[in-house]
Amino acid sequence: MSRGHRSGLAVPPAHSGQVAVFLLLAMTVLVFMLLFIVDLHSIIQRKNQTQNAGDAAALAAARWQGATLNLMGELNLLHVLALVNNQTNAVDAITNMQARLNFTGPMTALFAAQIAAKNNRMYVDSEMTDLLREHVGTIRMQYASVFDGELYFPEPWPGAWPQVADMLGQIVADGIAAGPDNAQFFLDPSTDHILTQKAFYDAVMGQNWCWFYLHARGLLESYSSFRDWPALPELGVADYSDAEIFGIGLFPMTARLDAFFSASELEERFHEAGFHTVSAAQLVDTNVMQRGETWYFYNPSEWSEWTRIKPDGEDSFPVTGTVRPEYDRAGADAVVRVYATVERETPGGGGRRRSDKVVWTAAAKPFGYLEDGTGRRPATDASYFALPAFRDVRLIPVDAASGSENSTSDVEWVRHVRNHLRPYLETGPQSPTCRYCLALATWENEAFRQAGIDWLALYHQNCRVRSPGGRRGGGSRRGH
Ligand SMILES: [Zn+2]
Repeated sequence: MSRGHRSGLAVPPAHSGQVAVFLLLAMTVLVFMLLFIVDLHSIIQRKNQTQNAGDAAALAAARWQGATLNLMGELNLLHVLALVNNQTNAVDAITNMQARLNFTGPMTALFAAQIAAKNNRMYVDSEMTDLLREHVGTIRMQYASVFDGELYFPEPWPGAWPQVADMLGQIVADGIAAGPDNAQFFLDPSTDHILTQKAFYDAVMGQNWCWFYLHARGLLESYSSFRDWPALPELGVADYSDAEIFGIGLFPMTARLDAFFSASELEERFHEAGFHTVSAAQLVDTNVMQRGETWYFYNPSEWSEWTRIKPDGEDSFPVTGTVRPEYDRAGADAVVRVYATVERETPGGGGRRRSDKVVWTAAAKPFGYLEDGTGRRPATDASYFALPAFRDVRLIPVDAASGSENSTSDVEWVRHVRNHLRPYLETGPQSPTCRYCLALATWENEAFRQAGIDWLALYHQNCRVRSPGGRRGGGSRRGH
């Protein structure tokens, strides 16, 4: 046996070379596998960190949105209180404070999101930072500019735009790690136009013909060239009292309180908010109910029922389980985007180490309700009059968040919408380095569109709305 063993080791010289080569190969494969496992481990770890950071940042922002909403509601009540006690100076101060708080509250939400992301090991993203720095310049140069003796955008309070630019500028100076992804910038076109919908480009790039069947039926057949598109919508918003980033959807309106409450109902609202200093009799005696005053209201177009998450809603958005009726309001929410890089150990092309960018988009929302003897009702149930009502924040699916399709921190997308669309409508596809412009070049190809028409003729009955791909309320097909 020992002889046999020995003879087994006595390999002829020709074979020993083969073994050496084999061993070398095996070692190389092993080393690669090891590096691959290290890569995989660091990618998974970094991905988890990114998701935690994104979720934490969205929750932090939503918490400040909720706190701001409560403060705005309390100031509405303090306004009533000041009227009852005939403190007219205080009334002006309160209204002015509300106008500012409507911007500074969301600004604090943006700041809090940065802290949360950085505490969760996210680094500053230079592209997202540059994008917001440019926006600071836009606010300074364009919002505050004057045409025909009037401001381009009416200011919510005197001197608002330079102050907003200063606040945003200070946050940007520290660097943006959590990009606001559902902002409604005043100068950006609304998403009414197909060319401002990211989903259209995704459908073209992925040859997802069903998207056309479900969302733009007939477009493949009727389209012939870029000259066919309708003009881009002018501006995204018409109301400048709400913040662009993480706005809370409140607006000021001058009205009489008796248009919304009886004196006893308003007394009840005071009690619910913990103020026991005002009685219905006082409200009547001081004629407060009949005075035209400026109050802050939930904007009904934003604080509507949450149709986007209902199976039969506007987007046929499938959701498992039901939403309790008191929580069934859209409105304020925060979508954030975070990026992280993963250094790879496995060599890529040219033998250099590679790094991958990991992205995570998360959405969160403040939740609350009004409560009285009859039970819980939605926060907006007091005739959309803003009252303190918010008690909690939760993560929500990105697709169910307002403005999530704007992707305002996806730098390539934003630059495409702002810089490439108008020239495209005039002269055809633009930048060869922009992936969205490349998608438009593909779209201009008649054979490409014909392929879609042919496919749908055979398979359109298979087209159904897909369920969202997110986990734990974060992420989605839009975010990645
Ligand atoms: Zn482009």
